[in-house]
Amino acid sequence: MVDCIFCKIIAGEIPAKFIRRDDDVVAIADANPQAPSHLLVMPSKHIANIADLAGLANAALLSRVFDVATKLGKEHGKHGFRLVVNSGADGGQTVDHMHVHVLSGRFMEWPPG
Ligand code: 5GP
Ligand code: ZN
Repeated sequence: MVDCIFCKIIAGEIPAKFIRRDDDVVAIADANPQAPSHLLVMPSKHIANIADLAGLANAALLSRVFDVATKLGKEHGKHGFRLVVNSGADGGQTVDHMHVHVLSGRFMEWPPG
């Protein structure tokens, strides 16, 4: 997708620290980390919102994204981790390419802001 910053990162047009990547799923370091470890896991293909990814037709890809996110959370979060998916304006989504935040390395407060 032409104007998507994450598609540009995946295409190599914008630099990022790649943590993991295969044909279907990419993990990068967040440019503005909110925890000692803050990673973003996303599908390689442009899917704007988790609402577009959820559903039986995409169950395998959804599962892969969360599988990678959980593995990275376990690797990076010695004492646990938090997965966050923001969806839409009220959900706080600012980049419209679905991604899972993987946060770890500090205690996560609840409720979130
Ligand atoms: P959202 O607000 O959509 O849930 O999360 C978007 C995330 O993308 C934010 O945490 C933000 O710091 C991160 N981000 C925005 N632009 C870039 C970028 O160019 N590179 C990287 N690595 N992260 C970015
Ligand atoms: Zn995209």
